[in-house]
Amino acid sequence: MFDALAEKIQSTIEKLGRKGKIDKETLEKGLREIKLALLEADVNYKVVAKFINDIKEKALGADVTKGVTAAQQLVKIVYDELVQALGGEEAKLNLKNKPAVILLIGLQGSGKTTTAAKLAKYLKKQGKKVLLTSADVYRPAAMLQLKKLGDQIGVPVFLEENEKDAVKIAKDALNKAKSEDYDVLIIDTAGRLHIDEELLEEARKIKEATNPDETLFVIDSMTGQESVNIAKAFDEAVGMTGIILTKMDSDARGGVALSVKGVTGKPIKFAGVGEKIDDFQPFYPDRVASRILG
Ligand code: GDP
Repeated sequence: MFDALAEKIQSTIEKLGRKGKIDKETLEKGLREIKLALLEADVNYKVVAKFINDIKEKALGADVTKGVTAAQQLVKIVYDELVQALGGEEAKLNLKNKPAVILLIGLQGSGKTTTAAKLAKYLKKQGKKVLLTSADVYRPAAMLQLKKLGDQIGVPVFLEENEKDAVKIAKDALNKAKSEDYDVLIIDTAGRLHIDEELLEEARKIKEATNPDETLFVIDSMTGQESVNIAKAFDEAVGMTGIILTKMDSDARGGVALSVKGVTGKPIKFAGVGEKIDDFQPFYPDRVASRILG
Protein backbone atom coordinates (compact mmCIF):
# COMPACT_ATOMS: atom_id res chain seq x y z
CA MET A 1 0.00 0.00 0.00
CA PHE A 2 0.91 3.68 -0.17
CA ASP A 3 3.29 3.09 -3.10
CA ALA A 4 2.78 6.40 -4.86
CA LEU A 5 2.88 8.30 -1.63
CA ALA A 6 6.07 6.62 -0.52
CA GLU A 7 7.70 7.53 -3.83
CA LYS A 8 6.77 11.23 -3.56
CA ILE A 9 7.91 11.50 0.02
CA GLN A 10 11.18 9.84 -0.78
CA SER A 11 11.87 12.05 -3.77
CA THR A 12 11.18 15.16 -1.70
CA ILE A 13 13.57 13.95 0.91
CA GLU A 14 16.22 13.21 -1.69
CA LYS A 15 15.90 16.73 -3.09
CA LEU A 16 16.67 18.16 0.30
CA GLY A 17 19.79 16.11 -0.04
CA ARG A 18 22.62 16.98 2.23
CA LYS A 19 21.50 20.47 3.11
CA GLY A 20 21.99 21.29 6.76
CA LYS A 21 18.71 23.11 7.16
CA ILE A 22 15.30 22.57 5.65
CA ASP A 23 14.90 25.53 3.30
CA LYS A 24 11.46 26.92 2.69
CA GLU A 25 11.50 26.73 -1.08
CA THR A 26 12.50 23.08 -1.31
CA LEU A 27 10.11 22.19 1.46
CA GLU A 28 7.15 23.91 -0.16
CA LYS A 29 7.84 22.32 -3.49
CA GLY A 30 8.17 18.95 -1.85
CA LEU A 31 5.03 19.37 0.24
CA ARG A 32 3.06 20.23 -2.88
CA GLU A 33 4.10 16.91 -4.33
CA ILE A 34 3.31 15.02 -1.17
CA LYS A 35 -0.07 16.75 -1.06
CA LEU A 36 -0.85 15.63 -4.59
CA ALA A 37 0.24 12.10 -3.79
CA LEU A 38 -2.07 12.06 -0.76
CA LEU A 39 -4.99 13.35 -2.82
CA GLU A 40 -4.26 10.79 -5.52
CA ALA A 41 -4.28 8.16 -2.79
CA ASP A 42 -7.87 9.28 -2.09
CA VAL A 43 -7.12 10.79 1.27
CA ASN A 44 -9.82 13.24 2.28
CA TYR A 45 -8.77 16.83 1.45
CA LYS A 46 -9.32 18.14 4.98
CA VAL A 47 -7.14 15.41 6.39
CA VAL A 48 -4.49 16.23 3.76
CA ALA A 49 -4.57 19.95 4.54
CA LYS A 50 -4.02 19.35 8.23
CA PHE A 51 -1.28 16.82 7.61
CA ILE A 52 0.65 19.13 5.27
CA ASN A 53 0.26 22.16 7.55
CA ASP A 54 1.49 20.25 10.57
CA ILE A 55 4.57 19.07 8.70
CA LYS A 56 5.28 22.53 7.37
CA GLU A 57 5.07 24.15 10.79
CA LYS A 58 7.31 21.59 12.37
CA ALA A 59 9.80 21.53 9.50
CA LEU A 60 10.22 25.30 9.40
CA GLY A 61 10.45 25.56 13.14
CA ALA A 62 12.89 22.69 13.43
CA ASP A 63 16.21 23.54 15.00
CA VAL A 64 19.35 22.85 13.08
CA THR A 65 21.01 19.93 14.73
CA LYS A 66 24.66 19.48 14.05
CA GLY A 67 25.44 16.45 11.98
CA VAL A 68 21.80 15.90 10.99
CA THR A 69 20.91 16.74 7.40
CA ALA A 70 17.72 18.50 6.41
CA ALA A 71 16.59 15.29 4.75
CA GLN A 72 17.00 13.32 7.94
CA GLN A 73 15.10 15.95 9.89
CA LEU A 74 12.25 15.91 7.44
CA VAL A 75 12.08 12.12 7.46
CA LYS A 76 11.67 12.25 11.21
CA ILE A 77 8.99 14.94 11.07
CA VAL A 78 7.01 13.20 8.33
CA TYR A 79 7.31 9.89 10.13
CA ASP A 80 6.04 11.33 13.42
CA GLU A 81 3.14 13.05 11.67
CA LEU A 82 2.21 9.90 9.80
CA VAL A 83 2.23 7.83 12.98
CA GLN A 84 -0.01 10.44 14.64
CA ALA A 85 -2.34 10.66 11.65
CA LEU A 86 -2.69 6.89 11.67
CA GLY A 87 -3.57 6.84 15.34
CA GLY A 88 -0.33 7.03 17.29
CA GLU A 89 -0.16 3.96 19.48
CA GLU A 90 -1.44 0.53 18.61
CA ALA A 91 -5.09 0.56 19.70
CA LYS A 92 -5.99 -2.44 21.81
CA LEU A 93 -9.43 -3.97 22.21
CA ASN A 94 -11.24 -2.75 25.26
CA LEU A 95 -13.16 -5.76 26.57
CA LYS A 96 -14.47 -5.26 30.09
CA ASN A 97 -17.70 -7.18 30.49
CA LYS A 98 -18.10 -10.91 30.72
CA PRO A 99 -19.25 -11.82 28.23
CA ALA A 100 -17.75 -8.90 26.35
CA VAL A 101 -19.74 -8.00 23.25
CA ILE A 102 -18.13 -6.96 19.97
CA LEU A 103 -20.55 -5.59 17.38
CA LEU A 104 -19.38 -5.43 13.77
CA ILE A 105 -21.01 -2.88 11.50
CA GLY A 106 -20.36 -1.81 7.92
CA LEU A 107 -21.51 -2.12 4.35
CA GLN A 108 -22.11 -5.38 2.55
CA GLY A 109 -18.93 -6.66 0.95
CA SER A 110 -16.70 -4.75 3.35
CA GLY A 111 -15.52 -8.06 4.75
CA LYS A 112 -17.59 -8.13 7.95
CA THR A 113 -18.36 -11.84 8.02
CA THR A 114 -14.80 -12.85 7.22
CA THR A 115 -13.58 -10.37 9.83
CA ALA A 116 -15.95 -11.80 12.46
CA ALA A 117 -14.30 -15.20 12.00
CA LYS A 118 -10.79 -13.73 11.88
CA LEU A 119 -11.38 -11.85 15.09
CA ALA A 120 -12.92 -14.93 16.72
CA LYS A 121 -9.84 -16.96 15.91
CA TYR A 122 -7.54 -14.18 17.09
CA LEU A 123 -9.32 -14.07 20.46
CA LYS A 124 -9.57 -17.84 20.71
CA LYS A 125 -5.80 -18.01 20.32
CA GLN A 126 -5.57 -15.75 23.36
CA GLY A 127 -7.44 -18.38 25.32
CA LYS A 128 -10.85 -16.75 25.22
CA LYS A 129 -14.08 -18.68 24.90
CA VAL A 130 -15.75 -17.07 21.91
CA LEU A 131 -19.28 -17.26 20.50
CA LEU A 132 -20.20 -15.95 17.07
CA THR A 133 -23.62 -14.94 15.84
CA SER A 134 -25.09 -13.52 12.67
CA ALA A 135 -27.91 -10.99 12.91
CA ASP A 136 -28.18 -10.77 9.14
CA VAL A 137 -31.83 -11.70 8.66
CA TYR A 138 -31.88 -10.62 5.02
CA ARG A 139 -29.32 -12.97 3.54
CA PRO A 140 -29.54 -16.58 4.70
CA ALA A 141 -26.28 -17.14 2.81
CA ALA A 142 -24.51 -14.76 5.19
CA MET A 143 -25.57 -16.85 8.17
CA LEU A 144 -24.38 -20.02 6.47
CA GLN A 145 -21.10 -18.38 5.50
CA LEU A 146 -20.45 -17.53 9.16
CA LYS A 147 -21.42 -21.05 10.23
CA LYS A 148 -18.95 -22.51 7.76
CA LEU A 149 -16.16 -20.23 8.96
CA GLY A 150 -16.99 -20.98 12.59
CA ASP A 151 -16.75 -24.73 11.90
CA GLN A 152 -13.42 -24.17 10.22
CA ILE A 153 -11.91 -22.43 13.26
CA GLY A 154 -13.72 -24.43 15.93
CA VAL A 155 -15.79 -21.54 17.26
CA PRO A 156 -19.52 -22.13 17.85
CA VAL A 157 -21.97 -20.04 15.84
CA PHE A 158 -25.35 -19.22 17.33
CA LEU A 159 -27.99 -19.04 14.60
CA GLU A 160 -31.74 -18.56 14.43
CA GLU A 161 -32.22 -19.12 10.76
CA ASN A 162 -35.96 -18.51 10.63
CA GLU A 163 -35.99 -15.49 12.92
CA LYS A 164 -36.71 -12.21 11.13
CA ASP A 165 -35.93 -9.93 14.04
CA ALA A 166 -32.21 -9.13 14.12
CA VAL A 167 -32.42 -7.56 17.58
CA LYS A 168 -33.97 -10.72 19.01
CA ILE A 169 -31.17 -12.87 17.56
CA ALA A 170 -28.56 -10.60 19.12
CA LYS A 171 -30.34 -10.70 22.50
CA ASP A 172 -30.75 -14.48 22.38
CA ALA A 173 -27.09 -14.89 21.49
CA LEU A 174 -26.12 -12.69 24.41
CA ASN A 175 -28.28 -14.75 26.77
CA LYS A 176 -26.61 -17.91 25.55
CA ALA A 177 -23.17 -16.33 25.97
CA LYS A 178 -24.09 -15.33 29.53
CA SER A 179 -25.55 -18.66 30.57
CA GLU A 180 -22.75 -20.69 29.02
CA ASP A 181 -19.91 -18.65 30.43
CA TYR A 182 -18.47 -17.27 27.20
CA ASP A 183 -15.81 -14.57 27.39
CA VAL A 184 -16.68 -12.86 24.13
CA LEU A 185 -19.68 -12.64 21.83
CA ILE A 186 -19.03 -11.34 18.32
CA ILE A 187 -22.13 -10.13 16.48
CA ASP A 188 -22.03 -9.91 12.69
CA THR A 189 -24.73 -7.62 11.32
CA ALA A 190 -26.42 -7.16 7.97
CA GLY A 191 -24.92 -4.84 5.43
CA ARG A 192 -26.25 -3.18 2.33
CA LEU A 193 -24.35 -2.00 -0.69
CA HIS A 194 -25.00 1.65 0.17
CA ILE A 195 -25.77 3.62 3.30
CA ASP A 196 -29.34 2.89 4.22
CA GLU A 197 -31.33 4.49 7.04
CA GLU A 198 -33.21 1.31 7.89
CA LEU A 199 -30.00 -0.63 8.19
CA LEU A 200 -28.36 2.01 10.38
CA GLU A 201 -31.45 2.03 12.59
CA GLU A 202 -31.30 -1.75 12.96
CA ALA A 203 -27.61 -1.65 13.89
CA ARG A 204 -28.40 1.08 16.41
CA LYS A 205 -31.13 -1.06 17.98
CA ILE A 206 -28.84 -4.09 18.21
CA LYS A 207 -26.28 -1.88 19.89
CA GLU A 208 -28.85 -0.59 22.35
CA ALA A 209 -30.00 -4.12 23.18
CA THR A 210 -26.55 -5.62 23.69
CA ASN A 211 -24.49 -2.72 25.07
CA PRO A 212 -21.28 -3.73 23.27
CA ASP A 213 -17.81 -3.23 24.73
CA GLU A 214 -16.63 -2.53 21.21
CA THR A 215 -18.57 -1.42 18.13
CA LEU A 216 -16.15 -1.88 15.29
CA PHE A 217 -16.76 -0.37 11.89
CA VAL A 218 -15.46 -2.60 9.12
CA ILE A 219 -14.33 -0.88 5.94
CA ASP A 220 -12.74 -2.04 2.74
CA SER A 221 -9.50 -0.13 2.10
CA MET A 222 -10.42 0.06 -1.60
CA THR A 223 -13.48 2.23 -0.87
CA GLY A 224 -11.87 5.53 -1.92
CA GLN A 225 -13.26 8.99 -1.20
CA GLU A 226 -16.69 7.62 -0.33
CA SER A 227 -15.18 6.05 2.78
CA VAL A 228 -15.40 9.35 4.60
CA ASN A 229 -19.17 9.63 4.11
CA ILE A 230 -19.79 6.00 4.98
CA ALA A 231 -17.70 6.21 8.15
CA LYS A 232 -19.40 9.44 9.20
CA ALA A 233 -22.86 8.00 8.60
CA PHE A 234 -22.17 4.92 10.71
CA ASP A 235 -20.46 6.91 13.43
CA GLU A 236 -23.29 9.43 13.68
CA ALA A 237 -26.14 6.94 13.48
CA VAL A 238 -24.73 3.99 15.41
CA GLY A 239 -21.52 5.16 17.02
CA MET A 240 -18.25 3.27 16.86
CA THR A 241 -15.34 2.64 19.17
CA GLY A 242 -12.89 1.60 16.49
CA ILE A 243 -12.25 0.65 12.90
CA ILE A 244 -11.14 -2.51 11.14
CA LEU A 245 -9.57 -1.90 7.77
CA THR A 246 -9.94 -4.89 5.44
CA LYS A 247 -8.23 -5.85 2.19
CA MET A 248 -5.10 -3.90 2.99
CA ASP A 249 -3.30 -6.51 0.91
CA SER A 250 -5.00 -5.35 -2.28
CA ASP A 251 -4.66 -1.63 -1.76
CA ALA A 252 -1.77 0.21 -3.35
CA ARG A 253 -2.81 3.70 -2.33
CA GLY A 254 -3.87 3.53 1.28
CA GLY A 255 -5.94 6.69 1.53
CA VAL A 256 -8.77 5.13 3.48
CA ALA A 257 -6.63 4.55 6.57
CA LEU A 258 -5.68 8.21 6.86
CA SER A 259 -9.12 9.53 5.87
CA VAL A 260 -11.28 7.39 8.10
CA LYS A 261 -9.07 7.87 11.10
CA GLY A 262 -8.81 11.60 10.38
CA VAL A 263 -12.51 12.16 9.91
CA THR A 264 -13.94 10.03 12.74
CA GLY A 265 -11.06 10.34 15.19
CA LYS A 266 -11.63 6.66 16.01
CA PRO A 267 -8.65 4.32 16.17
CA ILE A 268 -7.96 1.66 13.55
CA LYS A 269 -7.68 -1.47 15.67
CA PHE A 270 -7.10 -4.25 13.15
CA ALA A 271 -6.16 -4.82 9.54
CA GLY A 272 -7.34 -7.58 7.24
CA VAL A 273 -4.45 -8.50 4.98
CA GLY A 274 -5.82 -11.38 2.90
CA GLU A 275 -8.71 -13.75 2.39
CA LYS A 276 -7.49 -16.43 4.76
CA ILE A 277 -8.61 -16.51 8.38
CA ASP A 278 -5.08 -15.90 9.64
CA ASP A 279 -4.59 -12.88 7.38
CA PHE A 280 -5.46 -10.54 10.19
CA GLN A 281 -3.37 -8.45 12.56
CA PRO A 282 -3.48 -5.51 14.94
CA PHE A 283 -3.01 -2.21 13.14
CA TYR A 284 0.39 -0.74 13.99
CA PRO A 285 0.59 2.96 12.98
CA ASP A 286 4.39 3.01 13.37
CA ARG A 287 4.93 0.02 11.09
CA VAL A 288 2.64 1.45 8.41
CA ALA A 289 4.44 4.80 8.65
CA SER A 290 7.83 3.09 8.34
CA ARG A 291 6.66 1.24 5.27
CA ILE A 292 5.55 4.50 3.68
CA LEU A 293 8.97 6.02 4.24
CA GLY A 294 10.70 2.94 2.90
P1 GDP B 1 -19.48 -8.89 4.16
O1 GDP B 1 -20.51 -8.81 3.09
O2 GDP B 1 -19.13 -7.54 4.70
O3 GDP B 1 -19.80 -9.86 5.24
O4 GDP B 1 -18.12 -9.39 3.43
P2 GDP B 1 -17.45 -10.84 3.36
O5 GDP B 1 -16.85 -11.20 4.66
O6 GDP B 1 -18.38 -11.78 2.74
O7 GDP B 1 -16.23 -10.50 2.39
C1 GDP B 1 -16.41 -10.07 1.06
C2 GDP B 1 -15.21 -10.55 0.24
O8 GDP B 1 -14.03 -9.92 0.67
C3 GDP B 1 -14.94 -12.04 0.37
O9 GDP B 1 -14.60 -12.54 -0.89
C4 GDP B 1 -13.76 -12.11 1.32
O10 GDP B 1 -12.95 -13.25 1.11
C5 GDP B 1 -13.01 -10.85 0.95
N1 GDP B 1 -12.16 -10.33 2.04
C6 GDP B 1 -12.50 -10.04 3.32
N2 GDP B 1 -11.44 -9.55 4.01
C7 GDP B 1 -10.40 -9.54 3.15
C8 GDP B 1 -9.01 -9.12 3.25
O11 GDP B 1 -8.52 -8.65 4.28
N3 GDP B 1 -8.26 -9.26 2.12
C9 GDP B 1 -8.78 -9.75 0.95
N4 GDP B 1 -7.96 -9.84 -0.10
N5 GDP B 1 -10.05 -10.12 0.83
C10 GDP B 1 -10.85 -10.03 1.90
